[in-house]
Amino acid sequence: MVVYDLICNAEHRFEGWFPSFEGYREQAEKGLISCPSCGSTQVEKLPHACAVHVKKEAAASRPETSADPPPPSLSESDVKELLVRMNQFVRENFENVGPRFATEARAIYHGEKEEKPIYGSATQDERRELDEEGVPYGILPKPKLDS
Ligand SMILES: [Zn+2]
Repeated sequence: MVVYDLICNAEHRFEGWFPSFEGYREQAEKGLISCPSCGSTQVEKLPHACAVHVKKEAAASRPETSADPPPPSLSESDVKELLVRMNQFVRENFENVGPRFATEARAIYHGEKEEKPIYGSATQDERRELDEEGVPYGILPKPKLDS
């Protein structure tokens, strides 16, 4: 499963879940991807927000005294490795609540449950409900693993 940030020709940003990059490309070529806001099928893929964030941090952590030439920008495999590590960190330190994620996140947000780091899955409808209620959560980008 891969998640892509998409943008339509009216500049609505949204997220698309696809089985793979090939799956995305196939759907895009057939005009099967449409914007949830305006229904436009003129949709493009944005570079993933997470990759941009990662790049900034990696650059900032370089010692300033280093006389080395400026670090090259992250390659695709660097980004993939960071995503893998991020996923590992979450799996090791967060409680997996699986498909109950939306329910648990809401309970924690409303103080009905003790605050703890959790992760799990949420449907698009559930995520929209969380957005509407203002419950904060993050999307963990899944690295695309070579099989
Ligand atoms: Zn749109």
